[in-house]
Amino acid sequence: MPRELNHFTVFHQEAKTRARAGRLSTAHGFVQTPVFIPVGTVGTVKTLSPKDLKELGVEIILGNAYHLYLRPGHQVIADLGGLHRFVSWDRPILTDSGGYQVFSLAGLCKVNDEGVTFQSHLDGSFHTLSPETAIGIQEALGADVIMAFDECLPYPSSYDATRQSLRRTLDWALRCKEARRRPDQALYGIIQGGFYPDLREESAKAMVEIGFDGYAIGGLSVGETKEMMLEVVEKVVPLLPREKPVYLMGVGLPEDLVECVIRGVDLFDCVMPTRHARSGWLFTSFGRVIIKNAQYTKDESPLDPACTCYTCQNFSRAYLRHLFMAQETLALRLNTIHNLHYYLRLMERIREAIKEDRLFQFRKEFYETRNQMPDLSTKGVYE
Ligand SMILES: [Zn+2]
Repeated sequence: MPRELNHFTVFHQEAKTRARAGRLSTAHGFVQTPVFIPVGTVGTVKTLSPKDLKELGVEIILGNAYHLYLRPGHQVIADLGGLHRFVSWDRPILTDSGGYQVFSLAGLCKVNDEGVTFQSHLDGSFHTLSPETAIGIQEALGADVIMAFDECLPYPSSYDATRQSLRRTLDWALRCKEARRRPDQALYGIIQGGFYPDLREESAKAMVEIGFDGYAIGGLSVGETKEMMLEVVEKVVPLLPREKPVYLMGVGLPEDLVECVIRGVDLFDCVMPTRHARSGWLFTSFGRVIIKNAQYTKDESPLDPACTCYTCQNFSRAYLRHLFMAQETLALRLNTIHNLHYYLRLMERIREAIKEDRLFQFRKEFYETRNQMPDLSTKGVYE
């Protein structure tokens, strides 16, 4: 089968770390790496338009096969010209296979070697997803990067359950590769194995043997400690081919991005900046701000004086707090613009630091700046 050549190019290997600056090449253009991918689960990065995303400098967004399959249906989107056209986004898109959502959102999940039968979280209807149908859905959607279908276990899971699930995921990965028909899409395999180093190693080696255009580390951000997450990354990355991109799924906080880039990760996605924005939790250069706190009632200063985003250039903390307290939709939008800008600018600074071989220095400054002010309370952020 013809495969896209040169999906990933490394331009610069950082001198003292595993970090590298590179570029993904896709049918819808290039993506500079390391990159943070904003999450647009159902075909929209909530509250923002594609125009907003472009103004923020977003080069790739993520869509979700599970959600789009259930609503409006992948065939509807295919009939309307594919996901790019449907959502009016002409830059690269990555779709998740739906494995994670089937196991975390759907009801009454029954899994066997063939695939998974589950109940829609929308209307309770029954559906079956297999490696073949998950690839078929992602081909119909037409994303530039698609993911193999994997089984996601709850945390914690026993060694035996993890090993059994890992073998199934490997079998499914092979079937995904065989089912794949579109050479213009890059297909990534997902490495599982929980928090058992030998299972992670087995998974990584077997995935590399099958051979994918990129490798994702799955099964993290499930409630483990930061040390456990970094241990998995440190275990897996050295086992992967240096010429392929490494994607850490569902991670994370700004400090996680810094720490994992240093350990060799190229792609990240996480709902955190967008979801937190909508609950008034804002990321700034000096730490987090909970905008509803009373201390901002008459605060005329910008949210983050170091930020050049539309929100920080035009509005005061007092106004952002007022909008949030009044439950105005503009609050969600302005907060999302700021949080995404913060993440994108962080990645840009990381890429600059890699190119100048000063990532450790950058990391030091990153933590120092944040420690200038105490971390503000996060109590009551979640409903
Ligand atoms: Zn800002």
